[in-house]
Amino acid sequence: MADPDLINTWQRKKEQAAAESKTIAKRLQRKKGKRLDELADEVHQEVFSRINCLDCAGCCSGIPPIVTKGDVTRIAKTFGMKPADFEKQYLTEDEDGDTVMNTTPCPFLLADRKCMIYDIRPRACRQFPHTDGLDFSKNMKLHALNATICPGVYHILQRLEALV
Ligand code: SF4
Ligand code: SF4
Repeated sequence: MADPDLINTWQRKKEQAAAESKTIAKRLQRKKGKRLDELADEVHQEVFSRINCLDCAGCCSGIPPIVTKGDVTRIAKTFGMKPADFEKQYLTEDEDGDTVMNTTPCPFLLADRKCMIYDIRPRACRQFPHTDGLDFSKNMKLHALNATICPGVYHILQRLEALV
């Protein structure tokens, strides 16, 4: 069951979340390995069972997702658009040379915080925030950054800090 306090706590501590999460991520980095990845996956399931993403939409509002060629083909087809027209209308290249959505908030984020293309959304949206699936320790710097955008990541780092 969703617990709004998780999002509220993170919002109150947002100012310090960046420095705090960076320190925790550095400590966890020293303990990286299979055990940490398994534990992170368990903690991810627990934290996200208590967060309703529709109360947040921080990722959709704050980080333009990477959109792959496969994503473009799938989404453009659903809209009955040519991939090139979809790219022109919705995509841009970021400073790292990645193809991303061209606005933040995302052009497909609706007023009620739902995703207009949820069932066919980009792979990057499905994978965010990369804290499950046993790849946790490969993305430690990313977790520190994402903790400033995603309350889920913030709480996962906090819990792991207490557990390992
Ligand atoms: S495509 Fe959907 S899930 Fe992805 S950022 Fe946009 S609104 Fe969010
Ligand atoms: S930022 Fe995290 S908690 Fe918020 S909507 Fe995205 S995944 Fe869910």
